[in-house]
Amino acid sequence: MTRIAFLGLGDIGTPMAAHLADAFELTVWNRTPAKATAFAGAHKATVAPTAAEAVRGAAVVCTCLSTSVDVESVVASAVSALGPEVVWVDFTSGDPATSQRIAARLAAIGVPFIDAPVSGGTSGAQQGTLTLMLGGDPIVIERVRPVLEAVGKKIVHCGPIGAGDAVKAVNNALLAINLWSAGEGLAALKKAGVPSAVALDVINASSGRSNATMTLIPERVVSRAFPRTFRLALLDKDVGIAAQVARDQKVPSPLLQLAAELMRLAHATLGESADHAEMVKVIERWAGVEIT
Ligand code: NDP
Repeated sequence: MTRIAFLGLGDIGTPMAAHLADAFELTVWNRTPAKATAFAGAHKATVAPTAAEAVRGAAVVCTCLSTSVDVESVVASAVSALGPEVVWVDFTSGDPATSQRIAARLAAIGVPFIDAPVSGGTSGAQQGTLTLMLGGDPIVIERVRPVLEAVGKKIVHCGPIGAGDAVKAVNNALLAINLWSAGEGLAALKKAGVPSAVALDVINASSGRSNATMTLIPERVVSRAFPRTFRLALLDKDVGIAAQVARDQKVPSPLLQLAAELMRLAHATLGESADHAEMVKVIERWAGVEIT
């Protein structure tokens, strides 16, 4: 059976790796070893003590880390142990420039790399229904298709290396803008005497609706549940990447640049462990009202 190495057992890496444990011979590594030990207690997987030990003998190496810079450092620590036929699949929501640099480093030793960020959240990861957006050589993508299909449902080749990262960043910038603007609007309506549930009832049957108004705000904000599934720190990173992509392409992008600034501010205000939906708490503090 094909041996897979999975590096990075965070909120979304863990449920993705669980599907791979069902379908392949899996070795896992995580910087904080306790997470890898817990994973191996719950799934059929071997724990490696280092990233280099994890990738040794693997046909496919998967990473799902916070940033591309983290992936670059893990590549540096593991590159000498890579076999000749391996493919590196990076599920991180990365940045195109760093992915291109990693791909060039690996290409120099004959190892192909694809950027393969995902969307669908931790629930999509648990159900194996993620959307995968891919950058890289289509022939390489075909070689690893069984691995991609074990974790995702919709698999889209977006272009050369970095294209998956760019699409992911723009998607998440739209998420941030939808959530933030809905938060401002609902706070204003609440102060004008309209309860958020009433406002959402109208908006979700009208043209202003979005995933933020239909799912995130009712389930996380109005309920005050605020579960942690996707950290605001990571969304801040993603919107920063989208703003950088727009600048690199010389596209006038005042809204993307403002969204990046707002995410930086919310992240700095709420800290490292806040969930992305908690960004509305900043609006609530400014407005002196709860979106309920
Ligand atoms: P978490 O913060 O839960 O986990 C991050 C993982 O990366 C941990 O395993 C962490 O190790 C590891 N890591 C971070 N820095 C390093 C480093 N320098 N060296 C080695 N390992 C490192 O993040 P998520 O699992 O939520 O997200 C992972 C990626 O997936 C991110 O790019 C995110 O944007 C993206 N994503 C997340 C979604 C979600 O719903 N959560 C949805 C779609 C994409 P340690 O345990 O030691 O901290």
